[in-house]
Amino acid sequence: MRILDAIRSSKPSVSFEFYPPKDGATFGPLLERAARLEALGPGFVSVTYGAGGGAEGAGRQAASIRATEELAGATSAPRLAHLTLAGHSRPELVEVVGRFLASGVDGFMALRGDPAGGPSAPWRPVPGGLTYAYELVELIRDRTDLPIGVAAFPFGHPSAQSLEHDAVVLARKQSSGADFALSQVLFEAEAYSRLVERAARHGATLPIIPGIMPITGSVRREKLELFAGGPLPEELAERVEQARRAADPDELTRIGVDWCVELVAELLRAGAPGIHFYTLNSSAETEAICRGAGLAPLSAN
Ligand SMILES: Cc1cc2nc3c(=O)[nH]c(=O)nc-3n(C[C@H](O)[C@H](O)[C@H](O)COP(=O)(O)OP(=O)(O)OC[C@H]3O[C@@H](n4cnc5c(N)ncnc54)[C@H](O)[C@@H]3O)c2cc1C
Repeated sequence: MRILDAIRSSKPSVSFEFYPPKDGATFGPLLERAARLEALGPGFVSVTYGAGGGAEGAGRQAASIRATEELAGATSAPRLAHLTLAGHSRPELVEVVGRFLASGVDGFMALRGDPAGGPSAPWRPVPGGLTYAYELVELIRDRTDLPIGVAAFPFGHPSAQSLEHDAVVLARKQSSGADFALSQVLFEAEAYSRLVERAARHGATLPIIPGIMPITGSVRREKLELFAGGPLPEELAERVEQARRAADPDELTRIGVDWCVELVAELLRAGAPGIHFYTLNSSAETEAICRGAGLAPLSAN
C-alpha cells in the first residue's frame, strides 16, 4: 500500500508519469530520467499505456508493459501500472493484469483509452471487450487489493454528457473500487477546486491529485490546451505567445517553470494531497518545479 501511504501522508506526494519510447526499443533515456528523479522522493512513478488495436497498438502496449517492468531496475519508487481497456478483449485484460501483478507492480491506473481518431472520436468497444473504465476497475479489483487510480477531468471529458455527469462517472469508479484519481493537466488551481467540489457533490470523495505538465521550449498553445482539455489562463497564454514570437525557447521554459511553481503552491493551499507530473520524459523542468515549489526533500538539494 506504499502508493496510498504516500497519498495519505501529511507531506504532499509527488509522482512522475513517463511515456514509453515510440520505437519500443530504446528504454535507456526513460530509465535514466526516472533514476534521476528518484532523488525527489516520488510516491510513485508510471508509464502511459498505448491504447488501440492492430499490430501498431500491440507494439505500443508491449513497450508500455516492458517500460513499467524495467522501471523496477531504475528506481525503488512504487510503480503504478497504467492499463487501458481500449483495444483489448476481456481475456487479454485478465492476462495483462496477471503479468503486471507477477512483475510486482504496486498499483494500477485503470483507463478506457481513446479511439484511434482521438479523444472526441466516436467510441466503440472491441468485441468481447469492456466499455467503460469502471468495468476495468472491477476487473482489477476482483484480482488484487492493490491501490487503483482513475482519471478525472477538470473541464470534463470531451464526450461527457455534462460536467455533472462526469462527476457521477467518477463516483461510479470509486464505488467500483478506485482509491484515488489523477487529473488531466491543469494550468489553474480554480479548475482543480471546482473539480473536487463537483465530485464531492456526487459522492466521489476519493483523493484527487492534480496533474501538471512542464511547458518546454517547443510546445505550442494549441497543444497545451489539448493536453488540458480547456483554455489556458489568459495571462499564461499571453506570456507563452510573447516568448514564442520572440523565438526564445529558454524564456518559454522559464515562464512555464515559474507558472508551475506558483500553481503548485496554489494547488496545495487548495487542499491537493500531492502533485502528479506529466514529465514528457524530461527531468530538468520537473526538477526545477519541484525545487522551486519546495517539493524536493532537503537531501536532494
Ligand atoms: C491521469 C491520466 C492518465 C492517462 N493515461 C493514459 C494512458 O496511459 N493511456 C491512454 O491511452 N490514455 C490515458 N489517458 C487518457 C484516457 O484514456 C482518455 O481520456 C479516455 O478518453 C477516457 O478514459 P477514462 O478512463 O476516463 O474513461 P471512462 O471513465 O470510461 O469515461 C469515458 C467516457 O465515457 C463516459 N462514461 C463513463 N462511464 C459511463 C457510464 N456508466 N454511463 C455513461 N457514460 C459513461 C464518460 O463520461 C466519458 O465521456 C489518461 C488520462 C488521465 C487523466
